[in-house]
Amino acid sequence: MRLLLIEDTDRLSEFLEKGLGDAGFAVDRVADLANARAALESGGFDAVILDLGLPDGDGLDFLKQRRALGEQTPVLILTARDGLSDRVGGLNAGADDYLAKPFAMEELVARVKALLRRPGAALGVQLSLGNICLDTVGPSFLIDSKPVTLTRRELALMEILLRRPGKVVSRSAIEEGLYSFSDEVGSNALEVLVSRLRKKLGTLGADINLHTVRGVGYMVMDRG
Ligand code: CA
Repeated sequence: MRLLLIEDTDRLSEFLEKGLGDAGFAVDRVADLANARAALESGGFDAVILDLGLPDGDGLDFLKQRRALGEQTPVLILTARDGLSDRVGGLNAGADDYLAKPFAMEELVARVKALLRRPGAALGVQLSLGNICLDTVGPSFLIDSKPVTLTRRELALMEILLRRPGKVVSRSAIEEGLYSFSDEVGSNALEVLVSRLRKKLGTLGADINLHTVRGVGYMVMDRG
């Protein structure tokens, strides 16, 4: 799950990136609306966390414009303003939820997960194939109904592939879903990740195959 964080206070932004990262999200941070616009236009975000007071404009006006353009990504507003009129204004502008500063990291994580669980927000919560099942919001991964520990990146990779079982997913689409702009990604990082995951799934008795489609991408298939 990939989040766009729009927040101009560096310390807060770094803190949120770390907390959300620890919770399993890939986070891209921007500090103004111009960069937010560019990031949203490049696409691929599952949810947006939006501060209201930004150096080049007001977050609420920005949100209204984006909604008018048909932007549907769920948005959670961060606000220092705690007045009722601001909350109502936020929801009227097209926000899905809001959180008043200061807040606890756990609460932000819980709210973001709740946003992603809403029908129409994420593309589905439980992804199953063969004897495996991935709960994308938990997140948890089961083989034969038994929980298995995967790393954040392994879970993210499984999610991307399981959303299109039996279809080749291009390498660039996978990399875009796995890594945020600021991540340093080695040229063979994805191969290493896939081969580690393939080994792990084999050892644990998963009856699915991770196929490499040379020069194109990867595909997950039911072995049965
Ligand atoms: Ca601000």
